[in-house]
Amino acid sequence: MKLSSRSKEYMIPEYSLTGDLLSFLTCNLQYRYQNKGTLPPSMPKQLWFGEFIHGVMEEAFLKWKNENIVFDWNWLNHIRPIEEMIDLRLRARGLYPPLDQFCPYSRKNEDKSKCGDTNHPHKLFASARAEGAINIWGPDLFPLISSTEVLLKGIRDMPNYNKGISRSNYYGINGIIDVLSSLKIDQNLENSNNTILKYLSHNNDFYQRVKSIESEEYEIIIDYKGMKRPALNSNSWKHHSWQILTYAWLRSMQEDSKPIVAGIIFYLNELVPSIEDIISIQKDVLKGETDVEIGKSDCDKIKNWNSDDGDYLFLSNNFKMDRSIRIVNIEDKSISNALNEFDIVVSNIEDSFIKETNGFSIKNSWKAEAEKRTCDACDFRSFCSNEELSLKNMKVP
Ligand SMILES: [Zn+2]
Repeated sequence: MKLSSRSKEYMIPEYSLTGDLLSFLTCNLQYRYQNKGTLPPSMPKQLWFGEFIHGVMEEAFLKWKNENIVFDWNWLNHIRPIEEMIDLRLRARGLYPPLDQFCPYSRKNEDKSKCGDTNHPHKLFASARAEGAINIWGPDLFPLISSTEVLLKGIRDMPNYNKGISRSNYYGINGIIDVLSSLKIDQNLENSNNTILKYLSHNNDFYQRVKSIESEEYEIIIDYKGMKRPALNSNSWKHHSWQILTYAWLRSMQEDSKPIVAGIIFYLNELVPSIEDIISIQKDVLKGETDVEIGKSDCDKIKNWNSDDGDYLFLSNNFKMDRSIRIVNIEDKSISNALNEFDIVVSNIEDSFIKETNGFSIKNSWKAEAEKRTCDACDFRSFCSNEELSLKNMKVP
């Protein structure tokens, strides 16, 4: 009997925009270990919070739609039950919360753990941000939502296709839009009471683009990020816009889509920044590596703040909101640029993959290069060549 096997040509490698492409860009080697490793899946703090806040925002929207609870929501009564549900859901997937960011107990007098006392549940950073995201953005965001978790799929030519060597002449690309908003063209943006629409109307590129389209309705792609706003000109800043632009391309191929005018990214850490976040914000402001305007009072506070004093820095709510919302303009030219960039990323992943298949060691096939922050939170640093080098440099001869 002859067993039929599918020819190599028909195996189309499938890439997720965030899970593969952005993850590879963060660190090639970390991506390799996280995705294709034999080690148990690991979850750096930032990734756990990302999963958590996405789940919380989705459930909060459904609760708002079904029960129409008036804002501000009470954390203990309205938000904490959602958090506990999401925590359970993540645990079922093997994802456990970092205990210095999230109190896992629902009742008083349970184990002290890292909480300090047994007066659970505690509102630690993850919860404070969930509360901020719901009460600060929810009242304006939820009414704009037309659908959530929109699945996108597309196919592209394999870059640098090489017959006999490449795995396939195509690759699949997929992603999920957190929130899709559909707006009517005659919506009066300037006089709206909606804060998000006001932010949009103050953006000149957006304004021009809305005026130029002929459709009755248009769409806005919204994405949540469990991180601080990246520095202007940083890699993350660029990568996040590529992500939105690629979503726009994938969405535009779906039958029910309308012209996509803009993307909005919510950087949710900005609402309740950690000390580590504030240190980066301070650096961005002092070096001028930010596009967000700052008032004198916030600017003075940032200039005079010293992380060594151990005090938390309270910035104004307006400044925090300005920093947490980013508008990405969507133009055909920038879409094709983003697609080209991701083609290059796919080509690099494929090269590393082929190298490893051909017998090169993992470390020789996948580059270990990342920002310090990524390395600090990485589970693989003990055997990463990047870290070995830095450890060697630290040793006294
Ligand atoms: Zn606790």
